[in-house]
Amino acid sequence: EEDAQYLVSLIRTVPGFPKKDVMFRDFIPVLADQRGLSIMMKALELALPVSVDSFDYVAGLEARGFLIGVPLAAQLGKGFLAVRKAGKLPPETLNQSYSLEYGEATVEIEKDAVKPGDRVLVVDDLMATGGTAKASADLISKAGGEVVGFSFVMELIGLSGRSDFEDSPISSLVTMP
Ligand code: IMP
Repeated sequence: EEDAQYLVSLIRTVPGFPKKDVMFRDFIPVLADQRGLSIMMKALELALPVSVDSFDYVAGLEARGFLIGVPLAAQLGKGFLAVRKAGKLPPETLNQSYSLEYGEATVEIEKDAVKPGDRVLVVDDLMATGGTAKASADLISKAGGEVVGFSFVMELIGLSGRSDFEDSPISSLVTMP
């Protein structure tokens, strides 16, 4: 709990970014802090929403999901799959669009990045509406993979992001309004 408090103390809140009335939660300072980084990576492992032998890959969402996905995969002895924002990868790709508050976004993977039957844990820094994580899971499923669960560092409650996931196992280290 001392560790949990320390982790929370490192998360930076920026009111009004990227637009008015939004509270931006920034976990980048955790990465800069030796103790914070170690606490976060151990906590992600301890809080896994499924058993460690129930998945083969950790998938991280560009870009902040890469920052926790790669070290987590290495720590757990798994491979890492990069879920990219649209337009970064050469063909052929698979993609999945989803709606944002204003407009649309698309996530993308290399066509052969996921093989049928691959079991995947999806990670990102933060879940707000859950739309990004859901689109990434749909993309992995489209490729024939099986998404076994989701791990986040932060979860914004009040947006009921979890309701999009039916009964998928989800864990988050820190919940915030
Ligand atoms: P969602 O799709 O609404 O769940 O939004 C989550 C995605 O947007 C994640 O990829 C986050 O990195 C990013 N995001 C949304 N709000 C914040 C925030 O307050 N801080 C950091 N990232 C955010």
